[in-house]
Amino acid sequence: NSFSELGLAPELLRAVEDAGYSQPSPIQAKAIPACLEGQDVLAAAQTGTGKTAGFTLPILERLSRQRFDRQRPIRALILTPTRELAAQIGESVERYGAHLNPRLTHAVVYGGVKVNPQIEKLKNGVDILVACPGRLLDLIGQKALRLDQVETLVLDEADRMLDMGFIHDIKKILRLVPKQRQTLLFSATFSNEIRELAGNLLKNPVSIDV
Ligand code: AMP
Repeated sequence: NSFSELGLAPELLRAVEDAGYSQPSPIQAKAIPACLEGQDVLAAAQTGTGKTAGFTLPILERLSRQRFDRQRPIRALILTPTRELAAQIGESVERYGAHLNPRLTHAVVYGGVKVNPQIEKLKNGVDILVACPGRLLDLIGQKALRLDQVETLVLDEADRMLDMGFIHDIKKILRLVPKQRQTLLFSATFSNEIRELAGNLLKNPVSIDV
């Protein structure tokens, strides 16, 4: 049970080592190989389980294996309910991707702050976008980004997103990402609403309950 058995590049293993992690958490041990294989994942996971690295590491791995495209379309989209979570995920992307060469780029977008700096950042092209649903739709409305090249979609803390009333925003966003994609859904709780969303979104998901 070590990170080196999970199929991650040496650059990512180095970042994990820098972070001081001695072994993968249970959710990481299950989610990382499934994500690397391109499978959909349905995971029951609270904050504190290491879920963020569970989806961030395989996303970095898969994107870094691909040929560089100078346009840098958004290839991974991570949806999360709050600005705090968005910022934390952004930090994780930064940290775990620190040794990749070339580096992958990312942006973090949420509401309650000026939109222009976010638009400027997106103009440079980002491989990975971490977003709260409302601001993401604002930016799409302003033609600041497109989602038609998204290969991996993550719904982080899906139950909280629904509790916060984001279901309609999420449905709009889902219409803008390609049908053919990988989807990862993380939720602490499983209401009927979450099950229905998961049923509509995920194809033969690997279920993880830790
Ligand atoms: P998360 O559940 O993703 O919010 O992560 C919770 C905390 O666990 C974060 O502070 C991570 O840095 C830390 N963490 C993630 N993976 C591991 C691991 N394999 N070993 C020790 N700590 C970890």
